[in-house]
Order: sequence, then C-alpha cells, then structure tokens
Amino acid sequence: MGLHDIVGHERLRASIFRAHESGKLPAALLLHGTRGIGKQRLALWIAQLTVCTGTAAEKPCDSCGPCRMVRSLEHPDIHWYFPLPRPKVSSKEKLAEALEAARFQELSEYRVQSLVPSWWDDVRGLYLGTITNLRNQATKRPSMAKGPVFIIGQAELLVPQAASPEAANALLKLLEEPPGQARFILTSSEPGMLLPTIKSRTVPLHVPALSREMVYTFLKEHFSVDERTGKWAAQLSQGSPGRAMAFLPDEGELGPLEDLRRRAFDIVVGATTQNRGPGYRLAASFPSTRARQLVDLFTFVEVWLRDLAVATAGADKLIINYDALTRLKKHANEAGIPPSRVPSAFPAVERARELARGNVNPQLVVSGLVRDLRQVLLDSSIPTAEGSSR
Ligand SMILES: [Zn+2]
Repeated sequence: MGLHDIVGHERLRASIFRAHESGKLPAALLLHGTRGIGKQRLALWIAQLTVCTGTAAEKPCDSCGPCRMVRSLEHPDIHWYFPLPRPKVSSKEKLAEALEAARFQELSEYRVQSLVPSWWDDVRGLYLGTITNLRNQATKRPSMAKGPVFIIGQAELLVPQAASPEAANALLKLLEEPPGQARFILTSSEPGMLLPTIKSRTVPLHVPALSREMVYTFLKEHFSVDERTGKWAAQLSQGSPGRAMAFLPDEGELGPLEDLRRRAFDIVVGATTQNRGPGYRLAASFPSTRARQLVDLFTFVEVWLRDLAVATAGADKLIINYDALTRLKKHANEAGIPPSRVPSAFPAVERARELARGNVNPQLVVSGLVRDLRQVLLDSSIPTAEGSSR
C-alpha cells in the first residue's frame, strides 16, 4: 500500500538531487512533458527529497520517518492538489468544502492503488475552491518540515474556466510571494495552455518520455499482460506508462485509450472516403455534451494523420500505429490522398480542439472536423500550402 516506486527519470532525478544538495533547487518548479509520463509521481519524489531526514548519501532514503510518511501519502506538510470533477453544490464555501472532501477521498484511493491510468471520462478542473483551500493551507505553519510543499497536478486545467480567472490569480499571488519556505511544484502536459504569468514564475523542467522497453518492463511488473499485449501497449503509449495502462484491455473491454484510438481512425477514414455518409453518421454518434473528452480523441486524430503522411511517403518504420499499417496504406491508396496535403490538415484539428476546450457540442465539433479534413485532404481545388478553409 502507498505510492508505487518511481519509474525511470534517473538522470533528471540525479540533477534535481544535486541542485537540492547545493541549495539551488528553485522554490517554484514546472514539470512538463507528455501525459502519463509520471510527472506527479516525480513531484512527490522531489517533495520526499526535500523532507528526507536520512543520513545516507543517497536521498530520499525511503526509510526515515518523513520518507515513509510521503510514501503513504500521509506527510502533514506535503499537499497534493489535482483536477477533480466539479461537486454539485451551490455556494462558494460549500464548493471549497466539497472539493477538499473529494480530494481526501481520491487520496485514500491512491493509498490503496496508486497506479492509475492517465485517462478520465469525466470533466475535471482545478476550481477556485481548490486554490482557496491551498491558500488557507499555505498560511498555516508547517508541522514538521522546514517548509510545506504544494504539488499542483495538471496545472493547465486552471485556465479553461473563463468564468473564474480568480483561481489562476489566487495561485499567482502565492507563487509571487511564497509564504515562509514553501515550495510549489506544478505539472503540466500542456504548458502552452498555462497562463504566461504563472509560467514566468516557475522554473520549467522537461520530463522526457521513457523508452519503450522501460514501459514494457513496467507493465510486466505490475499487470498480468502477455508479451504481445505488453509490447503493443508500450509502443502505442509513446513512452508513457500512464497511457500504456489505459490501452490495456479490462475484463474483456477495450482499454479506454484504445477505444478512442479506434474512433479517431474512423474519423480520419470517414473524412477521407468519397462517400460522405459514414463521416457524418460518426459525428452524430457522439454524445451532445462533454466536449472536453474530445481533446484526447483529437490527439489520436493527429497521430493517425501523421501516420497517414508517413505511410504515403513509404517510411513504414516510423509509423506509431504499427498494428494498422496495412489498413492505413490501403486506405491512403484508395482515397488517393496526396502526401503533400496531410500537413495542411493539422490546423483543422487544432481548431476542433479549441472548440472542444470551449465546450461546444461534440457532434458539431466532430462534424466540422470531418468537413474540414475532407476539404483539405480530398478537395483538389484548394492549394496545399493553405490549411485553413471554411
Ligand atoms: Zn528519508
């Protein structure tokens, strides 16, 4: 029980360790990198490093009291915040209370099982209530460490709530003037979406992808997967254990990311077949709410488009969706997509992603994307250099 062992990132950890030992570890860090790569786990490791009281040369020692408390998510000075579904309450005060209760609930679930796939099917955010709770905590004296550590996972989810810029501003004030010896570790897989003011007050550290072999070893150690499935999920995860977990089948059902990947393939194929029917029928099959989920879907659309370009160029070895190589080539051939047109399709996906972030009805977003992709990839009257079309 408690936190699983950290996977990989040895070089990064060594340099963080050196910075900490020489007193040069910045008080506000931004760990950024692909989703599911272990950024929040790494943030907890850094927190553990700063509170470890062990005397061994290697830190964190994993055996002193503070270390053990971090590993069981019970250290009183380490505060981990992450996006949560919005509780259904009316007042501001009740929201803050309900969010804190929901956070404790998730933390108690982590203590039992900390290996959770990087995938949600509900809408989550970092609401003002969460930042209010964090700020209240920051005004208290630390219990045992020199200073508290605040970890804020997926910090970019502070931004999309146009209705409450206060959440971001409240955090900004804390970062500007950290109380006492407080530390802040933010993580983000979409640092471009962070407010520039928040970004400029943190020191960025890029967390690289793991090797395919490391992800495979991780899956073998923690899940009962056969070699073929393990290697397949490791390849598709693109170096992210959290994503690899979400590809694994669960009780006979497709893994949630595999389901999305297939739907993304259908979108690309639907948009690029001469018959217009399938693409639009597909759009109509999406629910009319929960647009945020489309953000992940569109990432897969991009990977399929990239693979389409790679396949039409004959560079088979570079294909990410390697299990679909034959189908991909067959489709590219039949549809007659000129390879030079594929790059022009990416702005269309980006536009669709923006709409999804703005919570536009998913059916409209997907059918708009299908229309745009069709225009860019199939309509020979549009010059290839110009990606945007209406
Ligand atoms: Zn220790």
